[in-house]
Amino acid sequence: MIPLAVPNLAGNEAAYLQACIDTGYVSSVGAFVDQFEASVAAQTGAPGAVAVSAGTTGLHACLVALGVRPGDLVLTQSLTFIATASAIAQAGADAWLLDVSANSWTLDPDQLQDVLATQAQRAGDGTWRHRATGRRLAALMPVFTLGCPADMARLEPLARHYGLPIVADAAAAQGARHRGQPLAQSGLTLGVYSFNGNKTVTSGGGGAVFGPDAEMLAQVRHLTTTARRGPGYDHDAVGFNYRMTNLQAAVGCAQMEQLDGFIAAKRAIDAQYRSAFADLEGIGFFPQPPWATPVPWLSGVLLPAAWAEDRIERFRSALREEGVDVRPFWKPVHLQPPYATCPAAPMPRTEALWPRICPLPCSTHLDPADQARVIDAVKRHWGSP
Ligand SMILES: *Cc1c(COP(=O)(O)O)cnc(C)c1O
Repeated sequence: MIPLAVPNLAGNEAAYLQACIDTGYVSSVGAFVDQFEASVAAQTGAPGAVAVSAGTTGLHACLVALGVRPGDLVLTQSLTFIATASAIAQAGADAWLLDVSANSWTLDPDQLQDVLATQAQRAGDGTWRHRATGRRLAALMPVFTLGCPADMARLEPLARHYGLPIVADAAAAQGARHRGQPLAQSGLTLGVYSFNGNKTVTSGGGGAVFGPDAEMLAQVRHLTTTARRGPGYDHDAVGFNYRMTNLQAAVGCAQMEQLDGFIAAKRAIDAQYRSAFADLEGIGFFPQPPWATPVPWLSGVLLPAAWAEDRIERFRSALREEGVDVRPFWKPVHLQPPYATCPAAPMPRTEALWPRICPLPCSTHLDPADQARVIDAVKRHWGSP
């Protein structure tokens, strides 16, 4: 099977892991954690970064640090991996689910503007509330879908008007840029990378929080490290144990050294698919909106709108039978039972897109001969009914 996206561990990973064992620093402090944070900070243009145990735990800690409380609402997009919604639920809040734009597959600023104008009202205490339920609007959580930054120049002024901090789920957007700037300068309050095994760079498991405000990052660090004050066992808040270990950071450091090469490889694979499939009838590709310099974490195709569900399933199983690892894409949050009662806007684009999104093998060390096999299989099965 040609896998969808697997780690490329050709750098200093083994040497750095051995250094952890030689020095005894295998746990939640160590030089690799500091070095990893410095490399994420430099890469995102942030004054610092906080290494955490996962993208999901980083998102949760950000929401709590920004004052999201039980009963609040957090506006986000339904077309995302479930972790976005679970972080909101873990903070005790509910997601207010919105559609995405057709040209970016990220949070639709027009719909956001419309729902806020018609369904939010200002309370006596100055906060904005969901008119129907009276619940406080506490944050905006755009997702940088598949490595493509959201349209922050539209989202940021809306968030500011409604008093909403922005937590960007940038889990899979390592190395992406927004209007030519690194992500900490895109207008977000806090952003979160994931270093799960299938992402562009991995630490085995893990995440990192970044943003433009050093004090806010210090607050996230405090919460993710048990909220301890001083050298004794004094804790001034309900904290979390969300630290990254030095072992994970050792792998992460070795991977960050290779980031530029990985980004180039992802882009080359993506370009190859785009040119090979340009003439296939009804095909679409993952969006590249003008404000974004995306890193195609996943490459692939958008299947024709004319294909019915069973036609899509036949295409996927034909490819799997030929040893090409294709899977269904994220089922949107509003269709998941635990989130069925969350407020949700109409979802015409999310519902039209998600069954048709078909990622293709795109590991950074994908063998060109294997990519040629994928291309050949896709072309042969495209036309067959
Ligand atoms: C991978 C991913 C996450 C989860 O990150 P973990 O490190 O696995 O917790 C969250 N959101 C999106 C959009 C992702 O792609």
